[in-house]
Amino acid sequence: MKAAVLVDGGEVRVEEVPEPRADGWALVEARAAGVCGTELHFLEGMIPPPHERFVLGHESAGVVREVPEGSAVGPGDRVAVYNFVGCGRCAPCRTGRESLCLDPVGQLGFSLPGGFADVVRVPAANLVPLPDSVSFETAAVLACSGMSVVHASRLAGIGLGDTVVVDGIGGVGLMAVQVARAAGARVIAVADSDERGELACSLGAAAAVVLPGGEGYEGLPDRVRALTGGAGADHYVELVGTEQTLLAGIRSLGRGGKLVIIGYTGDHLNVHPVELILSEIQVVTSVAASRRDLEAAIDLSAAGRLHVTVDTRYPLSEIGTALERLRARRVKGRNVVVW
Ligand SMILES: [Zn+2]
Ligand SMILES: [Zn+2]
Repeated sequence: MKAAVLVDGGEVRVEEVPEPRADGWALVEARAAGVCGTELHFLEGMIPPPHERFVLGHESAGVVREVPEGSAVGPGDRVAVYNFVGCGRCAPCRTGRESLCLDPVGQLGFSLPGGFADVVRVPAANLVPLPDSVSFETAAVLACSGMSVVHASRLAGIGLGDTVVVDGIGGVGLMAVQVARAAGARVIAVADSDERGELACSLGAAAAVVLPGGEGYEGLPDRVRALTGGAGADHYVELVGTEQTLLAGIRSLGRGGKLVIIGYTGDHLNVHPVELILSEIQVVTSVAASRRDLEAAIDLSAAGRLHVTVDTRYPLSEIGTALERLRARRVKGRNVVVW
């Protein structure tokens, strides 16, 4: 089969590799795989691959080819692939918080061979059936950014009537806008261009603050206060992850507000505790998601409340171009590899 492997020097190359054998897991014939910003962290060496010629791709959907007897899905079923393989025995796994597993088997595209391949191997328990109304490409993207924002939204307790700032209108930010809206919140998007701000508003944001090229964060707290009758926001969903954006987030919150950290860079955050204490600011962090969050994201999409913005579809042979365009920040929403 064909697969895109990471080769030494930070390049992805499409090569012929042996097909995996099920060996007690399931085999899925790939139909779509999302190309995520995380891929660039591998190319740049920020995340080391587990071994040479590793197959990347952690956002996958396809058709079941083979499953062990007694599985909930069968050959021919359309599925999204939940990419995190927990131990299934520890307390986090048993309470539906698999991404905090104490002894994980691994994660597709991070430590287990990923979705940029004709055939994907995964435990049958990781296969989530797809309704006909949810396309493979939508499902693939929900299997990363969609489920992650559902997870963060749940942890932060985003609810009816809350004001939520979403900082960073990339693929994840566009999902965050819609999930907060679905939870009943009013959303203010912070975007680095008019185009992205308009896209956020077209997906349900009530207002967009545009900081061209990401400049002008020092003025953001005043602009958020002006849009919230002076109160500040209830939640600030941080997807950019620089010290400047994190501080702007803290300062844009109202009393008892929550800073919800999903994105990060190499930056540290230096803030005096008093700045948090005086307003009883809470810091909520969120890593990946549970299978249940993926199911919720798929349900929201089937109900027409979570729309995935696909920029361009590529065959696997052109994955290099998809990655280059992502690196150049020329992608609106997600690039998806399709079969
Ligand atoms: Zn991803
Ligand atoms: Zn576990």
